[in-house]
Amino acid sequence: MSVRAVSEEAQDDLLGRGYSRRQLGRIATVFGMGAAAAATMGRPAWASAGVPDPAPTAKVRIGANECWTGPLAPGQAAAAGIIAMGNRYSPHDERGDFIKAVMQVEGVAYDHVAPWPGSSDPLSRAVVTFCSPTKALVTADPTFELAGRTAGWLGAPVKAIPLTADYAHDVKAMVAATPDAGLYYICTPNNPTGTITPVADIEWLVANKPAGSIVLIDEAYTHFAGVPTTSYMAAAGKDVIVMRTFSKIFGMAGMRMGYVMARPDLIAKMMRYDGGMQSGALPLPSLACATASLTAADLIAARRAEMREARGMALDHLKKRGLAVMPTNANMFMIDWKSQPAWKMQAAFRTQSVEIGRSWPVWPTISRVTVGSMDDMTAFCAALDKVWV
Ligand code: PLP
Repeated sequence: MSVRAVSEEAQDDLLGRGYSRRQLGRIATVFGMGAAAAATMGRPAWASAGVPDPAPTAKVRIGANECWTGPLAPGQAAAAGIIAMGNRYSPHDERGDFIKAVMQVEGVAYDHVAPWPGSSDPLSRAVVTFCSPTKALVTADPTFELAGRTAGWLGAPVKAIPLTADYAHDVKAMVAATPDAGLYYICTPNNPTGTITPVADIEWLVANKPAGSIVLIDEAYTHFAGVPTTSYMAAAGKDVIVMRTFSKIFGMAGMRMGYVMARPDLIAKMMRYDGGMQSGALPLPSLACATASLTAADLIAARRAEMREARGMALDHLKKRGLAVMPTNANMFMIDWKSQPAWKMQAAFRTQSVEIGRSWPVWPTISRVTVGSMDDMTAFCAALDKVWV
């Protein structure tokens, strides 16, 4: 996408906020490649270095925080059922039906919901919209890096604040970090730790942040935790953007669906660059699958229980083996190998056809492991007993 594809109004706004013409080109790149570019920015270092992703060849794939199984049964049926109507852009009003399902589950108004193909695009887009060379991104360390990478790519300052002793976002230190924040990124449960930042802390952040800044709350893993969410803050018109994806508990990573909840003026700002093309035209099977899945509360709870059982079994095994595992509330946990670098342990597990997750630079001896099915975790424990003697 060329710079010209970013509207003149958006260009004026960006230049007014201190972006240079060269940075406009980079912004056009973020939106031109859409979710694909954003997802690439979020990939681990070995992927962006051009090394092929080894996960598809592993028998057990517990490295990328995907769900161990596909979409919920009603979602699969709805997606299959709509294919025959694929000749129409919109056979009924599938986008509207999806938004109505979000309204029912989250208690937000129609104009406070924007669907997207996953959450990578709106995450990068929020950084472009609310940060600038003079407005910092305030994030955590460690956390999901996409917001920080997008800000770095655009030349916006990045303040990455260490987590608290409980592995929550340190909201007081985040506010103290700079008076010039454009966007605060809160990931709860946090990737990679799986830990929760209490809603009371997020409320404190929203009440005490500098005027004009926005709090982006990424709840990608919230259904695995089953704890109170922050959608009520979006419904109440606060300075927040609450972000969800269907890539996790809903088992739809390859189908690309997600949504944000926010005040209409914040959504409109995020749409400014491309008229909201990514939000307006979503594939029918993905929309239908997401609509039927979102309201299936009993099936969601059953999947959460299944994950907890497999996680409990694996954590018991690790404890018996004397390994240090951090507390978690989601479908991932962190193992501190202490005497070994995490990349070496990842390589050791690969010899057993088990793909575990990577580490974060701040914690080089700690690996993230995604919770898979009970069979996956049984295979993980067996592999552990071979590679950790
Ligand atoms: N947010 C968090 C915390 C994630 O871990 C991920 C993916 O792993 C995403 C957002 C992006 O997911 P997607 O673009 O598949 O919705």
